[in-house]
Amino acid sequence: MQITDLIRPNIRNLQPYSTARDEYEGELGTFLDANESPFNNGYNRYPDPHQKRLKSLLSPIKGVAPENIFIGNGSDEAIDLLFRIFCQPGKSNAISIAPSYGMYEVAADINDVEMRKVLLNEDFSLPVDRILEAADADSRLLFICSPNNPTGNAFARQDIERILREFPGIVVVDEAYIDFSDKPGMVQILSEYPNLVVLQTMSKAWGMAGLRCGLAFASAEIIGYMNRVKYPYNINVATSAIVERLLAEPVPEHVKMIKDERKRLAEALSGYPFVKEIYPSDANFLLVKVDDANALYDYLISQKIIVRNRDKVALCTGCLRITVGTPEENQILLEKLKHYA
Ligand SMILES: *Cc1c(COP(=O)(O)O)cnc(C)c1O
Repeated sequence: MQITDLIRPNIRNLQPYSTARDEYEGELGTFLDANESPFNNGYNRYPDPHQKRLKSLLSPIKGVAPENIFIGNGSDEAIDLLFRIFCQPGKSNAISIAPSYGMYEVAADINDVEMRKVLLNEDFSLPVDRILEAADADSRLLFICSPNNPTGNAFARQDIERILREFPGIVVVDEAYIDFSDKPGMVQILSEYPNLVVLQTMSKAWGMAGLRCGLAFASAEIIGYMNRVKYPYNINVATSAIVERLLAEPVPEHVKMIKDERKRLAEALSGYPFVKEIYPSDANFLLVKVDDANALYDYLISQKIIVRNRDKVALCTGCLRITVGTPEENQILLEKLKHYA
């Protein structure tokens, strides 16, 4: 498969916007090129459109070369860019597992791309044959969220690799929750699969949802197209600076605490009479099947505890999705549930 053949012709031929700073590498100089204000308030200069410093910090953390990293305004920017780069509106189609993250379908709808949804197996495993059968010559993108939101499970690596070998388009593996999983992610095998795009985010384990910083890892060719199509200054100076600073914080300890709490919460919840099933989770949330999801959801709201009601979602009837909080927050939840009749 030639990746270039999958690129929309107008994008293949795009002459990207060249910024004032593209031709000068240095940080010091007399900058009279971009019509900025010369008065330094910390933010008077345009940001680096290539986020070189942030990528050089992320590179050793992720084990990925800077040329294989894209940084976006949340993962949502990367998802939208992939549609705009690979899909022809009104012609191409994309495939997603179901249930899964809702943004894939919204991005497909916005870009006028048909989204084909393939229901997971009853045990939430990957329906490899049905996914491959759903594909045709116009299939450009396939979204596999692993660990999956809202089911919580990570998929078997050999299943994802078979899809990578046999799907005729780009396979996007969304690893927003990979830091909470004991299973390895796909980043280390990027070089083996030219059609693989791995999405990660600073929003979950790294605790930066408010900053909007999402990551994509792929071949230098695909990253090159993403850089050409994105807004030139998509990551602002303040976000870059704060992310750079927070990269030094002790995230592994927080991840360990969430994983310990996930186990404790699951064990405690299994003792309640209205809980029917707690699904295994590789993420920072639990999918919990209860007697009456709507009634329990309303009760928790009345107690000012907000969870996600997934009762209407395919394969998740009767289920609530509960984010693992601090030990104190989880204790509040467990106490309130004692009084639920
Ligand atoms: C939360 C989440 C993201 C993160 O999105 P951002 O735009 O980076 O905050 C991505 N994918 C999935 C499946 C998620 O649940």
